[in-house]
Amino acid sequence: MKFLKKTAAAWIIAALFLCVMMPVRAESDDQVVVMIDPGHGGYDGGTVAADSETLEKDLTLMYAKKIGAQIEKLDSSIEVLYTRNSDKVSWARDDEDADLKRRVIIAKKRHAGYFLSIHMNSSEDTSMEGYAAFVRPKDKASKKIYKIIAKNLKKAGYEADNGLTTTDQYPLYVVSKQKIPAMLFEVGYISNSTELKQLKKKKVVKAYAKAIAAAYVQYIHQNN
Ligand SMILES: [Zn+2]
Repeated sequence: MKFLKKTAAAWIIAALFLCVMMPVRAESDDQVVVMIDPGHGGYDGGTVAADSETLEKDLTLMYAKKIGAQIEKLDSSIEVLYTRNSDKVSWARDDEDADLKRRVIIAKKRHAGYFLSIHMNSSEDTSMEGYAAFVRPKDKASKKIYKIIAKNLKKAGYEADNGLTTTDQYPLYVVSKQKIPAMLFEVGYISNSTELKQLKKKKVVKAYAKAIAAAYVQYIHQNN
């Protein structure tokens, strides 16, 4: 009997707590927003891949959407937004400066907590392979997230980690100009025909996207 009373009291307290907390949560904007930025788009195709037809802008969009979908699948309370979610861009054409500025403004306007720009790498050396990222030197959050991504990608069989570069060594507008954790992630080398084939496989897109998404979700759960 004593146990039952205690249990009932606990339930009442829990119910009261929920009644008090629920409207507060719904009204406040403490929902975490992850802004995903598919590199290039519209007038700007980005790099042309080793097969002379695949464009970077199409692969960045495919990966960005898959990463976003995986984040939502892992935690539906996280809001995923995109700087573009089709080949249409909302900014001025043929003006790369305005283009990059716009991506940073969109993140700020939508109160993004995290910014992730997705790109594909390219090199004259067609044997170059692997992933890499750019972060601000003092952005501890993105550095930690990158470590988790690398661990997850290794588990997914992708071991070519080219590491982090900080924007004091290599400034990149969409990362340098952010105040929130911001990362530009180069998924792989599309100038390498073997890697290009791999990066286009549906299974691979899903596995890599999941590795990246899970890293953000893990970090957000531990820190927000
Ligand atoms: Zn690019």
